[in-house]
Amino acid sequence: MKKVFFILSVLLIFVGCETEKPSLKNKKIVKTNDFAIVIHGGAGTILKKNMTVETETAYKAKLEEAIKVGHAILKNGGTSTEAVMQTIQVMEESPLFNAGKGAVFTHEETNELDASFMDGKTLNAGAVAGVTNVKSPIELAIKVMTDSDHVMLSGKGASIFAKEKGLEIVDPSYFYTERRFKSLQRIKNKNKTELDHDDKKAAFYDADIKNAKFGTVGCVALDKNGNIAAGTSTGGMTNKRWGRIGDAPIIGSGTYANNKTCGVSSTGWGEYFIRSQVAYDISAQMEYQNKSLKAATTDVIQNKLTKLGGTGGVVALDKNGNMSFEFNTAGMYRASMDDKGILIVKIYKE
Ligand code: ASP
Repeated sequence: MKKVFFILSVLLIFVGCETEKPSLKNKKIVKTNDFAIVIHGGAGTILKKNMTVETETAYKAKLEEAIKVGHAILKNGGTSTEAVMQTIQVMEESPLFNAGKGAVFTHEETNELDASFMDGKTLNAGAVAGVTNVKSPIELAIKVMTDSDHVMLSGKGASIFAKEKGLEIVDPSYFYTERRFKSLQRIKNKNKTELDHDDKKAAFYDADIKNAKFGTVGCVALDKNGNIAAGTSTGGMTNKRWGRIGDAPIIGSGTYANNKTCGVSSTGWGEYFIRSQVAYDISAQMEYQNKSLKAATTDVIQNKLTKLGGTGGVVALDKNGNMSFEFNTAGMYRASMDDKGILIVKIYKE
């Protein structure tokens, strides 16, 4: 009798476990958006009191124009890759942002551009650094991914590759803007005496008084097929020298995308973003710790990056279309559009 009771109990436990499984399997994944897009145009000491109404309107209008290009592509069933590229190109062609035309100047009074791109479906990526004559660095980064065996090309070699692939080459003077040039002169005047680390930080920010320093651009898109892509494009930091390269072209720091988790594009003081592996850390926290996008971006920016002394932010999008904009600076030029076509454009904290 005892034996029968024992067998029955084991059977009951077994059946219980079996009935539990399907309900877990069928656990509904709640999609916030079937497709969505988020962008940034740089983070930093962007204060309302330093902005004219005209400047604010101009930034907001350009962010809106750019995100609508990508949104239309996604809405019509286009790929997240195409949406990211074309959205970033609108901002690269605008003198407002520190990317493409409007890039900041190096110490030698040249413009050296960095960009990167990642495809969350294949985990393929492409990046370029220190490019001086390619009109669209983001397009070149994507070409590196699709048409070469490499992930990252730099300087002259990247230009030769661009020419071979038929990308638009421009005279370096194409990237000149008076505003950025003046910003370099302001920093150079401040730097005449040797500055320590904190002074340098202050100098970077002072140069931003007229919002001239910030403006790296980035975009993350989720398409109707569930594919996430992320891209970032920048002129780097004003007064950079010795071939300095920031986080923007570093996969895992400036850009990361993985269909299993999320896509991220960063902006801020690149050295800290490289040391923190900001973009990959957000994805890793989601993958290994099962964190939500919001929890992961908050921890990486507000906790880890801030503790290190880094400043800046990210825009991110997860596989279910949840969005996150996290920054520890006064402002971040940013915008989002969801699958219902709801557009949000913001600059300051709230
Ligand atoms: N992250 C860029 C760099 O360090 C600059 C920026 O986003 O403002 O090159």
